[in-house]
Amino acid sequence: MAFFLQKETVKLACNCGSLKPIYRLYFCRHCQKIRCAYCVSHEVESHYCSHCLENLASADARLKRNCCTNCNDCPACSHVLSVRIVPVTSADPDDPSRTVTRKGYYLVCSFCRWTSRDAGMPDQTSATGGWAEREVPHARRISSLLEHYKGLAAKERQEKEKRKYVPRRSYLHFSDKFGLSTLLARKRAGLAPQGPGLKDDASGLPELEPAEASEGVEPLPESVFSEPLDLSQVTTMAQRLLQVEVQPADVRRLLPVHKPLLVKRSLRCRECEHNVSKPETSPSSTKFKIQLFAYYHVPEVRVVTCEPLLAGRPAQLVLKLCNPTQHQTTLSFLPLPSPEEDRRELELALQERRKKRAPEAKGSAGGREDATAVVQSFTRQLSAGEDPRPVAVEVTGDVVLPECSVVLPPRDDAAEYDDVGDSHVFHDDPKVVAWRKANKAAVKLSVLPRPEAPGGEVVVGFLLQYSYVNTIPALDQRTPQTQDLRVRVYLSLGPTLGG
Ligand SMILES: [Zn+2]
Ligand SMILES: [Zn+2]
Ligand SMILES: [Zn+2]
Ligand SMILES: [Zn+2]
Repeated sequence: MAFFLQKETVKLACNCGSLKPIYRLYFCRHCQKIRCAYCVSHEVESHYCSHCLENLASADARLKRNCCTNCNDCPACSHVLSVRIVPVTSADPDDPSRTVTRKGYYLVCSFCRWTSRDAGMPDQTSATGGWAEREVPHARRISSLLEHYKGLAAKERQEKEKRKYVPRRSYLHFSDKFGLSTLLARKRAGLAPQGPGLKDDASGLPELEPAEASEGVEPLPESVFSEPLDLSQVTTMAQRLLQVEVQPADVRRLLPVHKPLLVKRSLRCRECEHNVSKPETSPSSTKFKIQLFAYYHVPEVRVVTCEPLLAGRPAQLVLKLCNPTQHQTTLSFLPLPSPEEDRRELELALQERRKKRAPEAKGSAGGREDATAVVQSFTRQLSAGEDPRPVAVEVTGDVVLPECSVVLPPRDDAAEYDDVGDSHVFHDDPKVVAWRKANKAAVKLSVLPRPEAPGGEVVVGFLLQYSYVNTIPALDQRTPQTQDLRVRVYLSLGPTLGG
């Protein structure tokens, strides 16, 4: 867990205002912007079992309740259970005076030593199955609910078939979908509007018993108050939630848990709907078909050294910058925009987005056109990305940025093994560039912690401008285009020493 709790020193700001380390970000080559997990849509590519690597279609996975039927997890520690073989001697049914020896199978956890024998499960005669299934106390209720909603889904599908010949994008198509036509008809007739369309849709389906709340709660057994508690016999909350249908309180009632299936996800930019990540479907492959991670496109910033921070006293900070692309890049350092500039920029960006979303909504008049515009803008909104938001971080230090720009040569994997020296010659200012090697350079900056927060965390930020070569061929331009892109970088340098 320590890995997840580790403090991130360098974070980049996404358009949506969230701050993420570079390895959690994507770069959309079509929008030429950084995207975080909130700014991409997540789609399931395939379901698979992480232990036996079986690949399942999504319909099959649903049928198997998203669990692998062959693999089991330990109910005590969630480690995968393995099968043990033991010889079982029993009386021969044909000749009771003789005994026969057969193989018996039971499940064992190699991590915590839990076995299926602890749960009182008899040894099985085959390695693959027949393990006792847990009885779900509410199975009847759940299956009746499932039946009901399956009926509803079938009905909706039928209605969709009926509507197939209505031209798409017409008012009728949308109005039927959202039940607007019945609403309007009722309004015209002077009737009160009915509740959402679900009630009407359910007619003709088997009646569903409504759930009933009960006040009666089973009293606790007397032994709870009189007998001392043995904690080793009580399950932990995590163990109970692994078996959410039963939630056993006693460790002897723990049964093996079917291993939950994992999914491979593909990620799509919500602004332009291009993929930023697409894995290969085979569960045994860890490769990607599309892999637009930010650390392949955006220069990486790392803190090398930082002098002790004292409020009001400048400290030297050395950053290592690395160019991950196949093209030379020029880096410049710019101060962060002031809060007023930030607000103005945000407002402009928001206005632009609103204009893009609903160009029809303004000009149209009359009820019918209005409804179309509303519905159209609604559907467009669903696919559009996150609104730009300000970055919610308080900067508690100033940073003196180098005025000259730094050029980084392209990445060359062979250069790692080349001790002879760099083939690139740059005339750097030794006050700015401490050293450079291949596609990396160390840049000196000066940090001045503000005096108002002694002992607090020093956070500084700057705008990193980098030239990016877009290799996606555009319609009108054949040659790759070089553009200057900007990203906000925030550094958490630790607390100041003393007052
Ligand atoms: Zn984002
Ligand atoms: Zn499996
Ligand atoms: Zn275990
Ligand atoms: Zn995009």
